[in-house]
Amino acid sequence: MQTATRSELVRALPKVELHVHLEGTIQPHTAVDLARKNSVSLPAFDSVEDLYSYSDLADFLVIYTALAKSVVEVDDFRRITYEMLQSASSNGARHVEFFISPHAHDGIPFSVQFEGIVKGMTDAETDFGVRSAIVPGINRELGPAAAEEYLDEILANRCDQLLGIGLDYYEAPYPPEPFAEVFARARRNGLHLTAHAGEAGPAAYVRSSIDVLKVDRIDHGYNILEDPDLVARCRESGIMFTCCPSTTTHTTSARDLSAPDHPIRRMKEAGLVVSINSDDPPMFRTDLGKEYEAAMDVLGFGPADMKRSILASIEHSWMDDATKKLWRSEWDAEIDRILDQMA
Ligand SMILES: [Zn+2]
Repeated sequence: MQTATRSELVRALPKVELHVHLEGTIQPHTAVDLARKNSVSLPAFDSVEDLYSYSDLADFLVIYTALAKSVVEVDDFRRITYEMLQSASSNGARHVEFFISPHAHDGIPFSVQFEGIVKGMTDAETDFGVRSAIVPGINRELGPAAAEEYLDEILANRCDQLLGIGLDYYEAPYPPEPFAEVFARARRNGLHLTAHAGEAGPAAYVRSSIDVLKVDRIDHGYNILEDPDLVARCRESGIMFTCCPSTTTHTTSARDLSAPDHPIRRMKEAGLVVSINSDDPPMFRTDLGKEYEAAMDVLGFGPADMKRSILASIEHSWMDDATKKLWRSEWDAEIDRILDQMA
């Protein structure tokens, strides 16, 4: 029997993915296929891979939006969902909570989108055993009134697989406070809550996401490090930060993962609860396995850190309590066995 390589072992670690955007997982060749089929024009590119090159978050969002427009029919949504979950599963993910951007698909009814997405989720669970949940992200750039209408649409088309909402898109000039009402209404309707904060925006946005939006989790959160009091508070409360190593090298000033002051390393060292996620994997030329490798090989996550992070990602997921309990106990020994082989 051949010995597994380190990278295969990292991939074999059971995982919960809590921060990945469906539209950011579209493989370049799928985007080109769908754009051609649906007669949608993509930004100019020399080779298919060049489609995914940009210098900052604003530039990235332009490509992200163009790609989203190439996804039109029920089967297109089924395909991108299925391919995303296939990739996640091949990287060890057994449960994936993924963001969707329904407003990015120019006028395609939410019902059409959700039908295809749910089909993709069902097919992927049948074929790969991977579970998943939908988390629509509010586009903060459109303001609170649009967010209210968006929530109306979400609730009107709600399905069992839709477990929560997020706050997304360009962060810096769009603080969380104006979205307090829409988040409160989502919560009253039984939805879980999360928000992108402290990636391009300041620590104050992390604070108001917690205090005003009353989120269960923070997506990214790196700039929390500007505010030691808030760090101490979050360490105490144990709120989860869904971190994405490769993303930081494209959209933040923390471009060197090996830097001793990289925010994800510092957040872990400060005792915050951090999970490792893939965000927009093909767009950042990565996948969930590579993100775990970066955490372990570059960001200083030792075996105990990695295990704590994985078990925390079960705990802070929005799965039912019985599954969480079962997985925590089953994964404990499985993670130890794999980490021992890596030692
Ligand atoms: Zn994200």
